[in-house]
Amino acid sequence: MSRIIGIDLGTTNSCVAVLDDKGVPRVLAGADGERTIPSWVSWAASGQVAVGTRARRQAVTNPAATVYGAKRLIGRKVNADDVSSFAHTAPFRIVAAPNGDAWVRVQGQPISPQEVAAHVLRAVRKVAEEALGEPVTRAIVTVPAYFDDAQRQATRDAGQIAGIDVIRILNEPTAAALAYGAHRVREGRRLIAVFDLGGGTFDISIMSVENGIFEVIATGGDTALGGEDWDRRVLERIVDEVFDQHRIDLTGIPMAMSRLREACEAAKKALSVDRETRIELPFLANDQHGAPINYERTITRDYIDELTKDLLDRLEPPVTRALADAGLSGDQLEEVLLVGGMSRWPAVAATVERVFGKKPSRGANPDEVVALGAAAYAGILSGDSDEAQLLDVTPHDIGIRVGDGGFAVVLPRNSMLPVRARRLFATTSENQKFVSIELYQGESQDVTKNRKLGQVTLGDLPPGPAGSVRVELVMTVDVEGMLSVTAREIKSGREASVTIRPSGGLSQREIVEIINRRRQEHSAITQLPFEGGGMRVTTREFAIARPDEDTEPDK
Ligand code: AMP
Repeated sequence: MSRIIGIDLGTTNSCVAVLDDKGVPRVLAGADGERTIPSWVSWAASGQVAVGTRARRQAVTNPAATVYGAKRLIGRKVNADDVSSFAHTAPFRIVAAPNGDAWVRVQGQPISPQEVAAHVLRAVRKVAEEALGEPVTRAIVTVPAYFDDAQRQATRDAGQIAGIDVIRILNEPTAAALAYGAHRVREGRRLIAVFDLGGGTFDISIMSVENGIFEVIATGGDTALGGEDWDRRVLERIVDEVFDQHRIDLTGIPMAMSRLREACEAAKKALSVDRETRIELPFLANDQHGAPINYERTITRDYIDELTKDLLDRLEPPVTRALADAGLSGDQLEEVLLVGGMSRWPAVAATVERVFGKKPSRGANPDEVVALGAAAYAGILSGDSDEAQLLDVTPHDIGIRVGDGGFAVVLPRNSMLPVRARRLFATTSENQKFVSIELYQGESQDVTKNRKLGQVTLGDLPPGPAGSVRVELVMTVDVEGMLSVTAREIKSGREASVTIRPSGGLSQREIVEIINRRRQEHSAITQLPFEGGGMRVTTREFAIARPDEDTEPDK
């Protein structure tokens, strides 16, 4: 069995760590010494794919074929508000797949975000294999606690495409708490919060740690808020400035936009330490007379704070809600852990201190703690370490459509995992042939505002008057947050046919096609053995049947 690596598959950067021979998690660096890999993928005109820093550099010359932020799209619909606003600013095209999923279009080819993420995972895997000098096929991959089922499933699919057996999906805040060693500090029950502001997502988790057992008490966040939003604010202001001064719209000049985006991020990082810095972009574009625009200005931390005040204000409500869900106030928490590169921003740390009423703890490198925690968890799973267990909760209410567009919660948000709930249904008409139950997750009373997970159809019901035939629905979410649903007709006890039609994602056939296509392109690449043609490698973890599988009831 190969070693299990821990992968933080980030919106902007990814990081990989492993437990060393002494049982200490350590980050694996690439040949160039880089400890994080930008989650960027670029396609050259020749079809050659670049990943990481090389891809990010190509963004300047090849912006329409350089994809970043795939984590914002993975498992999402193209018409979601935050996906639309991302599509508005991204220099590459975001398109709708036939099922409405958000995909990208590069050089005329539609590409799923799963495939983009797989390129990043493959690069991460290569870093690990080179650093360890041995093949790596198994990993723990982290996701924001707020990721729903479709997003988790899509992340697993990305791993499969990359030839990685994703043996566990782990919530990022849980991983971070493990890395901080929150469980080792002292005896007794400790309540902690993990505040994670990365490049594209914001996660807040309230956890308790007792006798080495982690329990996520409540989670919350905003999947559409991160450091990139801070960069974009500055960028938009500069675009306006250049337009006012030169009547030139930089948004129509991809190369200028890419350079500007890099410069804004670099300025922000500098300003998290200094109060003032300079942005210098010679030959950014040409003005109306063809003369070069050499953009130069001094920018201050206060100015960025002024531009991003509303972003900062968006940090507080999810924290308040998570605390309320946990039935706690900020002063009952013993520690608040800062995670994610954007938590280095002084106003962010100050907001955390104000909201929680206590100074947050900051590790040496908030960009690495999630991967380190995933590696620590790999140690726990493989039996190399027995110092902790994890208890997780469901991030959303899960329930069914009732009556006229109503939503009945079956598994409430923040139910501790694993969790199982049963519901009994009676037929409503004489000789009813089947029942059909629509499954949703979300927090709205109006079912249409929630996300449809699928539909359970139980056919071949025995004849009888209305109300005489009863059907039991069992919903289970396992320790990894994967949902499975079964339906049973009570009288005969017969487990009848169950169909769940997910409303998105890649089908198994599509995944196999992507893998085969890559095999043909790169016959030297080793892949996981693929058993039984259309079967998934890790069947145990794929609870939901995909559109091209099992859609006919068993007879
Ligand atoms: P992560 O997803 O944790 O890698 O965080 C990436 C985000 O953190 C990006 O938006 C970065 O611009 C931001 N970031 C990284 N370092 C710093 C820094 N020193 N100051 C401010 N933001 C930073």
